[in-house]
Amino acid sequence: MDALEIIEAKKRGRELSTEQIGAIVEGFTDDAVPRYQMAAFLMAVWFRGMTPRETADLTDCMLRSGDELDTSDLGAPSADKHSTGGVGDKVSLLLAPLAAACGLRVPMLSGRGLGHTGGTLDKLEAIPGYRIHMDNSEFLDVVRRTGCAIVGQSGSIAPADGRIYALRDVTGTVDCVPLITASIMSKKLAAGPETIVIDLKCGSGAFMTDLEQARELARALVAVGRAYGRRMAVSFTDMSQPLGVTVGHATETLEALVALRPGGRALAPPSLVEITDDLVADMVLTAGLAADRTAALARVRAVWDDGAAWACTRAWIEAQGGQLDWDADDLGLTVAPVAAEFAAPRAGWLEVTDARAVGLALADLGGARLKVEDRIDHAAGIDWLVRTGEQVEAGQPLALLRGGDDGGRQAALKRLEGAVAVRDQAVEPVPVILGRID
Ligand code: URA
Repeated sequence: MDALEIIEAKKRGRELSTEQIGAIVEGFTDDAVPRYQMAAFLMAVWFRGMTPRETADLTDCMLRSGDELDTSDLGAPSADKHSTGGVGDKVSLLLAPLAAACGLRVPMLSGRGLGHTGGTLDKLEAIPGYRIHMDNSEFLDVVRRTGCAIVGQSGSIAPADGRIYALRDVTGTVDCVPLITASIMSKKLAAGPETIVIDLKCGSGAFMTDLEQARELARALVAVGRAYGRRMAVSFTDMSQPLGVTVGHATETLEALVALRPGGRALAPPSLVEITDDLVADMVLTAGLAADRTAALARVRAVWDDGAAWACTRAWIEAQGGQLDWDADDLGLTVAPVAAEFAAPRAGWLEVTDARAVGLALADLGGARLKVEDRIDHAAGIDWLVRTGEQVEAGQPLALLRGGDDGGRQAALKRLEGAVAVRDQAVEPVPVILGRID
């Protein structure tokens, strides 16, 4: 089949057949379709969109380009969560053992951070000895034994997505609902969970900045998941400001693990607790382990408080080779000392206007990568001390910077100045959960 004909058809807004979509995706994966033709095809999709059937076909081709894990013998219902990414999002580190303690099996494939968004894999690499690569059978064995495991996506899972995503990244075609849907769902479906919960982030630190756009993506994700017989739920959550009180790798891992300790829930940042409760309850409820949302939330809180989730956390991290000092305050993680302070320029009500800038300030400190090949300092971080709506005094510390050199810290401070506004009038706090689709 001729790639040019397929590009022409999409350019003119025609619906492509299953065969045409298969031909262009498989052709690109096998090097028969060159990058410039695939780039033109992706741009045509960006302008013309895809019907639900075309989106499902695209997902299917990308899914079938690699391995699919068999999670049918994990001994309990399997479930996973996908977050569309943001700043300070360490929820997966809490959610996986909490869901496991609630009776689910959580085989989680995770990615690295790029630009202002953090990646769970980078956070886990702050743990000495933690192995992010395992073959599929060892990965599933850890899930069977401990209830959860989190590893990096191997090249054998949806390889077509890896190639297409790299091209989208440099051709301005990332922000396109059918392409995002096929990209996310091909990877999630390949990992095999029966229940998939999506944390769709909205706001200045997310790639979906408005709720309407996020709803369109949610509908497309749910339609594809259901077509594959998966149980789906979506929560829309706020990403107009960093989540919790830390941004950085070792520091976020520490925040998440300390919160999981028995008694840690009461001391953890309320925004982190609320969103974690909500997403784990989504998983429990959607998987059919609770009769209603109230019962699901009660179950999450019980395993958090009685130490069951903490036991799962230790079993999972040790099974993946992680060596932590479980009783120490810092758990044996290396977090850089505070080296600079960002203070309120005047008194008033605080509004975080640009969460993305906070993620980029971490890059200024060496703690996030701007290019895929950049090395990162896991010890660098930002303690984010305030939330939108809080009243602040002039000179009050709003954030503490850890790590970086003088130049990096100056750049980070400048960036943070542009990330907040101090208003004369009271500012409404922003809710953490913006809505959901069950
Ligand atoms: N995350 C993905 O995995 N793919 C996209 O296209 C966008 C976000």
